[in-house]
Formats: sequence, structure tokens, C-alpha cells
Amino acid sequence: MPSPTTSGPGTLPPIWTSSSSSTISTSHCRRWQEVERLRAERNAVANKMKGKLDPSVRQALVEEGKNLKEGLIALEEDLVQLTDKLQLEAQSIPNTTHPDVPVGGEESSVLRKEVGSQRSFNFAIKDHLQLGKELDLFDFDAAAEVSGSKFYYLKNEAVLLEMALVNWAISEVSKKGFTPLITPEIVRSSVVEKCGFQPRAKNTQVYSIEDSDQCLIGTAEIPVGGIHMDSILAESALPLKYVAYSHCFRTEAGAAGAATRGLYRVHQFSKVEMFIFCRPEESGKWHEELITIEEDLYASLGLHFKTLDMATGDLGAPAYRKFDIEAWMPGLERYGEISSASNCTDYQSRRLGIRYRPSPSEPPSTSTKKGKGAASGPTQFVHTLNATAVAVPRLIVCILENFQQGDGSIVVPEPLRPYMGGLELLSPKF
Ligand code: AMP
Repeated sequence: MPSPTTSGPGTLPPIWTSSSSSTISTSHCRRWQEVERLRAERNAVANKMKGKLDPSVRQALVEEGKNLKEGLIALEEDLVQLTDKLQLEAQSIPNTTHPDVPVGGEESSVLRKEVGSQRSFNFAIKDHLQLGKELDLFDFDAAAEVSGSKFYYLKNEAVLLEMALVNWAISEVSKKGFTPLITPEIVRSSVVEKCGFQPRAKNTQVYSIEDSDQCLIGTAEIPVGGIHMDSILAESALPLKYVAYSHCFRTEAGAAGAATRGLYRVHQFSKVEMFIFCRPEESGKWHEELITIEEDLYASLGLHFKTLDMATGDLGAPAYRKFDIEAWMPGLERYGEISSASNCTDYQSRRLGIRYRPSPSEPPSTSTKKGKGAASGPTQFVHTLNATAVAVPRLIVCILENFQQGDGSIVVPEPLRPYMGGLELLSPKF
């Protein structure tokens, strides 16, 4: 999920140098010093009251202690609020960036690979909304009544298509040694924050659950990242590779317009996500591996796409480097992002407390909870990486728009057919 704050390679993030954060930081420091001073005075008064005292002296000390306590209560409340504000500011500090990352906004991203070419059609093409309407695949109107805008019902063969995409992706990726997971879709806000997202920020992408400390997940990256929270992993267990299926929930604050119509940008969607915990020196290699898996998946579906090395302005807070894949969507008449692969280095593992103990003094099991029998010796933070295998709605857009036929039917990509009972064509009659 994107985060508003980014920085260039080796530069300090703007938030850290902004006057608002340095003012908060200075006020927090002063308030903390005042609180500490008053606590020391209160303790000194309490110490003076030990033992035998003249009643008038004791009374004066009681009064002094009472005043100090009242003053402390107000200052401590203030300190809690300032700490909260400071934490919010601190959370928006992004990761550093790889030296090769292009500096600039979205337009500065660099092409790494291009696969296939734009298909030419000898008939008037339709967008996925029109095709879906004719094939009775979606219901946006009922969803708008029931849930609100940017929700949808999938119907008929679209349901089979979603399930086929998910099953195919889990099956293909788990063949490469990734452990399949289905994750919780409600998580603690603290875990969301530790993964580098900001549920409490203005215009957040995260849905928080009222009167609780929990959020709906925007991506399986969060519950998978948290699976080894506060653990020391055995070096021999690394890399730990997961492929996780979940629904994703996003407020999509500020997103509107024709470019995001239909299934392109919605509040709830299914996604299969890859996630790796690895040794720091191997994260570059695993990043390459994740991008190759993504490219192989989309090439085997027959899509035309470009892989881009994303520029600093588009990295989001946790990513050290990020490659996006944009596929051609002929009905929308543009390339649209279908996946994203990020190396987050130790940005998330530091916050989540995920370390490993380099050999030879590693503990015997896969992981040890902190303080519960871990062998002594230096530990290091693991690196974490995440990458999309299948973001279902955008692949449905690609499949409908790229593989449409003149008669309004859709050719099902070959790899998905075994997961759809051999169905080769989505045609107007189901
Ligand atoms: P992200 O976790 O933000 O990197 O997103 C992963 C992938 O999910 C993106 O590359 C898109 O293909 C897809 N995606 C992101 N947001 C949405 C959305 N609101 N609706 C549909 N698909 C989305």
C-alpha cells in the first residue's frame, strides 16, 4: 500500500527535518525533563516523610507532595499526548533507498523489462465493464445499495475465474517452496504500524474498527509480516517463504475518476501475496526471484506488461526498492499496475522484533520467542520482502479486455482452464 512520505537515496526524509516534527520533538523532550524533575522532587518529599517528624513539618510536606502530585498528573497527561504525536511523526519516516533507485516521481521510474505487445483487434473493443455486463459477471448497482460505491458482486463465471486465479497462483508459487497461508483479515493496529502503514494518519488507506485496537488488513503482507513477531529465527530456517491468500480492504481515500472505474480500484478485493523473511545479504537475490516469479506468472497468462524500477517518490515508507508490473488494459486504453514487489530490508523486522541468530549457536527449533530459551550470542534483524502473485480484480480486467472476441466471448487463458473444469470460453450463455 502506498504511503505519503518518501525520500531520495541517502537523504533524510522530509518529515524528519520539518519544523512541525522538530517542534514536537523539542516539546516532548522538555515535557519529559519536567516530568522527571517533578517525579524526583516528589520522591525526595516522600523520603523526607519517612521517620518521626514535627507535625507542622509533616503537614507542610504533605501539602508539598499533594501539589507536586497534582502538577505531575497534568504534565504526565500532556507527555502521553506528545509521545503519541511524536510516535505518529516517527512512523512516517521512510526506509532508506537502494543507491540505484531513480530519484523523482512516478514519471522517473525506469523500464526493466517488457513482455509481449499490445494486441490489435479487428472489431470495436469493449471495456471490462461492458463485457462483464453482457456476460452477467458483475453487479455494481446492487453492491452500491448494499455496501456503497466501489464494491461489487462477482457472478457466474467471474466467481470461477477468481477462484481459478487464486488456486492457480497458490499452486504455482507453492511449487517453488513457498508455504501456503490463509491469514486473519483483522489485525491489531500496532502490527499495521510496525509494518510501516499508518492507520491513524489523515487520509489513511486503512479501515480501523471503531472502539477497538484493530484494523481490517489492506494486504496479507501485514498478518504474514506479523507471523514471526518478537521471535528469534534459526538461521537454518531462512529463507522463510510464504504465499498467502486474503481479502484486502482499502479506503482508497482521494482516489476517483474514470481511470479507476469498474474493478480497477475497489474497496475490497482478493489477493495472493508472496512474502519472504531472509538473511540481510540475500534480500537482493530474493527480490530478483520474486520479480521473476511474477513475470513468469503473467507471461504464462499471455499478458503484455512492463516491469518498472520505481522511483523514490513512489516507493512508500517501508520499501528500500520496489518493482511494479503494469499490464496493458485495452478497454481502459492504458497500462495499469497489476503487481508490486518490494524489498523492505530491516524496516519492518526492526519494528516487529524479528531477528535471527547466525550459526553456529542457533537454537534447535524454527523460532524461539524472545526470552524463552534462546541460545545466547549476537542476533541480527532479518530482511523482509513482499510481492503480489495475483491481485484478482486487475487480472480479471486484463483477461476480459485482452482476450475478448468479436462475438463478446472471452478466451480463458490456458493455465486457468484446469481450475475451471476445463472451461475454454466465457460466452454470453453460462
Ligand atoms: P500494493 O499492496 O498496494 O502494492 O498492491 C498490490 C496490488 O494490488 C497492486 O499492484 C494492484 O494490482 C492491486 N490493488 C491495489 N489496490 C487496489 C484496489 N483498490 N483495487 C483493486 N486492486 C488493487
